[in-house]
Amino acid sequence: MLAAVCLTAVVAGCAAPAAQPEPSPTGGASAALGAVPLKVPGLARQEEEGSGEADARQADAARAALEAAQRWGLDRPPLKAPPRPATRTALTPVQGVKLKDGRPPVVFRVPIQEKVVFLTIDDGFEKDPEFSRMARELGIPVSAFLSDYLVRDNYGYFRDLHQQGVEINNHTINHRNLKVLDYETQRQEICDQQDQLERQIGVRPRLFRPPYGEYNDDTLRAAASCGVQAVPLWNEEAFPDHMEWRYDDRTLHPGDIILTHFRGISDWKATMPDLLRKVVNDVTAAGFSLGRLDDYL
Ligand SMILES: [Zn+2]
Repeated sequence: MLAAVCLTAVVAGCAAPAAQPEPSPTGGASAALGAVPLKVPGLARQEEEGSGEADARQADAARAALEAAQRWGLDRPPLKAPPRPATRTALTPVQGVKLKDGRPPVVFRVPIQEKVVFLTIDDGFEKDPEFSRMARELGIPVSAFLSDYLVRDNYGYFRDLHQQGVEINNHTINHRNLKVLDYETQRQEICDQQDQLERQIGVRPRLFRPPYGEYNDDTLRAAASCGVQAVPLWNEEAFPDHMEWRYDDRTLHPGDIILTHFRGISDWKATMPDLLRKVVNDVTAAGFSLGRLDDYL
């Protein structure tokens, strides 16, 4: 409910309401605390027992998570993703996975059992420092797919995001519909962005997403030749006020990939933190955690 209140306020151009405290740059969370009684299971018990350093550390971590959740106006702290899997998921031709010899797999849903979903953010137009601070303070794993023409004016923003653990992936140089381009031009769009991301950010991504989700066999062949290992698409698209679903059951499934974009007030009449708040609240309420896509795919 808080997110809806906040969004309405943002749309109306109002300041954030009292129940939605603006995060303070000095990290002064204390004023915000107590405004909304959030509960962390086990926190009180751990504090009472105080049995050993591990318990104390756990209690500190839980308290920090609770404070961060309150600071950013979440309904409750996000669920912690399971530890990074020892090996990446073996892909078989199940629903949500398209396989062909010599081509990187196209994946709408990572075939896992755990209640983990993945947040992927495309393009790179909006470069909001509050978003990077929010993702960092909440410990939310994010996978970015960057198109050079939108980010070349400020690669530094994404270098910093990468420093704090955001995965950087390839979304071509010019964000053209690859399907209408010949093989060589497609290859330039993809390979040149691999080179650019390596030069600018120091990563040569394993993952590539074609603009608009549009691709043909040449796209996959070209991507393979540029070193791409997998082509994640998506099952849900997130907006600051709603989710769009690929399937009629309108629910999250283990391994679902959620798409959204680096956008802000000019497109959405809402901010990147509004978007992230909505996604994290929905994902947490459904009993899911957010994972790091590159660990699984
Ligand atoms: Zn795009």
